[in-house]
Amino acid sequence: MRIARFSIDGNVAFGAVEGDSPDSLVLDIIKGIPYADFELSGTKVPLKKVRLLPPVLPNKVVAIGRNYAEHAAELGNEVPDVPVAFFKPTTSVIGSGDAIEYPSFSEELHHEAELAVVIGRMCREVPRERVKDVIFGYTCANDVTARDVQRRENQWARAKGFDSSCPLGPWVETDVDPSDLAIQATVNGEQRQLGRTSDMVRTVEDLVVHITEAMTLLPGDVILTGTPAGVGPLHVGDEVAVTIEGIGTLTNKVIKRG
Ligand code: MG
Repeated sequence: MRIARFSIDGNVAFGAVEGDSPDSLVLDIIKGIPYADFELSGTKVPLKKVRLLPPVLPNKVVAIGRNYAEHAAELGNEVPDVPVAFFKPTTSVIGSGDAIEYPSFSEELHHEAELAVVIGRMCREVPRERVKDVIFGYTCANDVTARDVQRRENQWARAKGFDSSCPLGPWVETDVDPSDLAIQATVNGEQRQLGRTSDMVRTVEDLVVHITEAMTLLPGDVILTGTPAGVGPLHVGDEVAVTIEGIGTLTNKVIKRG
């Protein structure tokens, strides 16, 4: 099931996305909270009549760096012995169709297409065999990065944590096997990144085990799993799209911060 979060007439709701053709998708409004028990209301609205919101409001986004060997190499890095983990703040999260604001303190903004894992239940110290029980679903993410700032500053809080640096969406797919999906980024329709999630150095399972060794994850929390090779520049006016097979396409325009 594809579960979107959206606003209509000033109200925020979750809905199950129905249909196949992008122009005729319909949302069946959900009664209750998707992570717990919920039912479909049967009240349907066309998706193009609503504004999509980030599909989740995470308490935290835990991101993993250098998880595809080819991407680590393209920036002159080794794949680390222990996964590199960092946070992106809740204020960095935007939805599909929202604008990425080019930060004033950078001159080198990059896209990073990533598979995002959405957590479904509170968990800590999750054993490998229980990982699938704590995952709600998957969505597309763009780990937008001020590459020049990342090089200059030891910690990546500013380079990867500025407002609008974490597009998520367009919805959460709850029924997809994440182990071997095509993942790509385009800029203005031109392909920049193309990889497969099977090239991840650490699998989704590895990452959930590793992260929950340290911290409790809450329903709606998000894990970004790293980006394949082909990262590159974004400029004001560009439209960047992240597509993951079996999930959907996350699209955002880059604007000058007003
Ligand atoms: Mg990344």
